[in-house]
Amino acid sequence: SSERLLMLQLVTYLRHQRLLITRDLTQIDRLETTRRDFVANVSHELRTPLTVLAGFLETIIEAPDDAIPEPLRKQYLQLMQTQATRMQTLVADLLTLSDLENSPQADQALVDVPHLLNTAIEQGIALSDGRHEIKFDIDPDLKLLGAASELASAFSNLITNAIRYTPDGGKIKIRWCRTPDGKARYSVKDTGIGISTEHLPRLSERFYRVDRSRSRDVGGTGLGLAITKHIAMRHDATLDIESRLGKGSTFSLSFDARRIAPAVN
Ligand code: ADP
Repeated sequence: SSERLLMLQLVTYLRHQRLLITRDLTQIDRLETTRRDFVANVSHELRTPLTVLAGFLETIIEAPDDAIPEPLRKQYLQLMQTQATRMQTLVADLLTLSDLENSPQADQALVDVPHLLNTAIEQGIALSDGRHEIKFDIDPDLKLLGAASELASAFSNLITNAIRYTPDGGKIKIRWCRTPDGKARYSVKDTGIGISTEHLPRLSERFYRVDRSRSRDVGGTGLGLAITKHIAMRHDATLDIESRLGKGSTFSLSFDARRIAPAVN
């Protein structure tokens, strides 16, 4: 009968609703876990440098006058400065992430990518300080529509990482070109330490690091790839990672054709 049918429809509808609600709850649970992990991570990252800072300050303040000879005193102060810089970098990265999350869309300005890359490569060369062979191949006419400052950080992040995770004497190659399928591709290839496959899917999560102490030693915050991935998404680009442990890695950003700026004559 039609009543039975209605009843059946109602039951199906309610079941479906319950399914939806359960699914929403799992999603909320997951968000809550992510948020909690994030707060725990930030606290942990700040606590380490603060502990070092407080320790040195106490030693200096408690020491009797002239008990710490000048060269040692200077060394303490430099160590304290390193820790302060680390916290500054961390806070700056956190602010960048939060800005990215709070602003809905990236600009659509004309971005002179070759020019940005020149600067990024110069900075990379300065950071490497002759320890690596750095080469590049850049299409001078390939420009994008987007936010220049965001793109500059994404490009630099990948170069900085290549330098950080490539031992002295290694090679780094930076490319910016069109692909056969009409996209624009930025890639940074290194002959560095590489990453084993099981880490690859999680690499762009906030604070995910293959080797926490190594990352810290090279001045990393564990937020660089999370920021880069965010910027990529806002620019219709994908972040792809290919890597082989002990051989090296290639990180690339592939921009959708609609992000490529039309050529002006
Ligand atoms: P970090 O500040 O630690 O470098 P990122 O988010 O930039 O943070 O990178 C996350 C992790 O990915 C790094 O800690 C490192 O383990 C790994 N990684 C990133 N780039 C490379 C690379 N070029 N070669 C090897 N490992 C890399």
